[in-house]
Parts: sequence; structure tokens; C-alpha cells
Amino acid sequence: MSFLKTEDLLFETKELFVPKLEEIQEVLQEALRSNFDQVTVEVVDCPNLKNDPYYLADSGLCGSPTLVEVGGPPYLLPLVDTSKIYDITEIAKRSIGKESTNILICGAGAGPHMIHDQNCEGIYNMKIENNGSIKNCSYLARVVGVEEKCALEKLPDTEKRFALLANLFACEGKPGKVLRVHCKKRIGQLNFITSIRIALQNFYKEKCVGLGGLFLIKSGMVYQHVMRHFSTTPINTEDQLNNWLKFYEMPAVLNAVGTLITNENDLDLRLQHFHSFSNTNWGGHYHYDTTPENVEYEGFFNVGEQIVRVDRPRTTHKFGRD
Ligand SMILES: [Zn+2]
Repeated sequence: MSFLKTEDLLFETKELFVPKLEEIQEVLQEALRSNFDQVTVEVVDCPNLKNDPYYLADSGLCGSPTLVEVGGPPYLLPLVDTSKIYDITEIAKRSIGKESTNILICGAGAGPHMIHDQNCEGIYNMKIENNGSIKNCSYLARVVGVEEKCALEKLPDTEKRFALLANLFACEGKPGKVLRVHCKKRIGQLNFITSIRIALQNFYKEKCVGLGGLFLIKSGMVYQHVMRHFSTTPINTEDQLNNWLKFYEMPAVLNAVGTLITNENDLDLRLQHFHSFSNTNWGGHYHYDTTPENVEYEGFFNVGEQIVRVDRPRTTHKFGRD
């Protein structure tokens, strides 16, 4: 099964508002207190995120930080369009737009369904060297067997395909200053990412701010979904969608990669989307934690300088974006 040619895809790029990290630190430090009992937001030198317990494909989140959204739920729902298969390496290179640089690209998308002839989640985490070689730390997660267990599987270095939709953070993988957000014990109703996004939205209003990176669920359990195989009957409502998705309560430690953005910027965007991997069988799409008393989150994020919208659906709808 072949890729869509990246040079034929519509790329739309918009600059994002880039606040000082110290300002975001203050905004989040104040706002997250209403959702978590313990909150520490810092501007730090990005630790080497290749190391245990983070396992990113490259060390840093800096250098041309870029949010990339490809396709969207309208290619999956009501019925799948299986022609939507993309090359993550070519999309990463065209989005960053620089010759001869290393690229780290990570985030949440639909996985390469052609591997098992089965729909799956994609958890993308890849380094593309400037010489073209690839270090792929990406995974797919799928529902297997009559018991519908969750299975997580590492993708080979040669696997560049993803399907339908993705929210990705791309950068040059360099060291530099980033935000560290550490929260323990949830006392509010919002999930970790929503609490960050709403705080930024409330402060920056119509200015569009995007973050990307990685967070760990270090303790507790989280509610996550894995897509079942493509539905042969149309999915038109949130209820039908939630019956089709397979939900699990997954235990820590989980490493989630993805993006958030404060508004759609007239680009028909998904405002937040993180998928997680682990060193067990668990992986999938993050919704929220189910253990507020003992949940612990640690995230590292950088601020995107631009949003690149790729192959935006012409006919769109607003469901399936949770
Ligand atoms: Zn997802």
C-alpha cells in the first residue's frame, strides 16, 4: 500500500504567538493549583529526554519547534478513507523546512493499519538524522483476540507510514530551555492537558499558543482508548463512537507524546491529542486519570513557533476530537 505523495498534499502554515517561557510558567503555576494539590512549574534546561524514564528518540525539544496536524477525524468517521496514508519523515522534513538538520517528531496519530490489516493507534517518536537514517521509537497499540486485550508493539526503523490523522510536535531535537510541569494529587475535574490548555486559553485569549512534548503519568491509573478495527457501519454520533472505541484503565508508568493548542486558528484543528507508550503491553489515547488521590504527572514542553496544517479535510465535522 503506497503513500500519498507529500509534495501533492496541501500544507498551510501559520505563525503562533510565542510567549516567554517565564510568563507561561507564572500562568500555569497559578492556574493549575485549582486542579492539582501540588504544582511545580519551572523553566529548565531540557534534560536528556532519551534517557530513562523518558525514552524520547532524541535528547531535546528545541530548534524550530513546530506543531503539525495532518488529516483529521473526518477521514475516519463516519466511514474510513483507507487511501489516507502518509509518510511521517517527508511530512516532518517539509514542515521544518530546513536542509541538513536532525529532526525529532513525536505525537499522536492513527497507526499503520496495513501492518496487521487492522486499525490501530500510532504513538510516534522518531529521530530523522540529517543523513537520512532513522531511529524509530514509535509504537502501535491495538485490540487483540476475543478478550480484546491491549497489545503494544514497537515499529521497525523502516516503518514511516501513518494513517488518517495525527497531531505531531517536530523540532531539531536540540537542548535548550523548556517548561517542566509537575503535578500531584488531582483536586479538580480537568485532565492534565486540558488544565494546561484552558489556563493558556484564559490568559492569551485570541492569541494562539501551542505546546508540544512529552509527559509521564508516574503513578496512578489512566482511562485511555484504543481504536477497534474500522467500523463497517457509519459512526455518526459520540455514543456510536464511544461504543466503537475500546476503553481501558491503564496503570502507570505511561509516557505520552503529543500537542495542545489554544484555538483552531481557522485551520480546523484538534486542540489536544496525546498518545502514550509504556514498557508493558499498555498504550493508547489519553483521556484522564481515574486515581486523583495518587496521580502524579511530570511533563516537558516547548512552545511551538508555527502550526503546519497538512491535508486538511474539505468536508469536516466536530466530533471524535476528545
Ligand atoms: Zn488519539
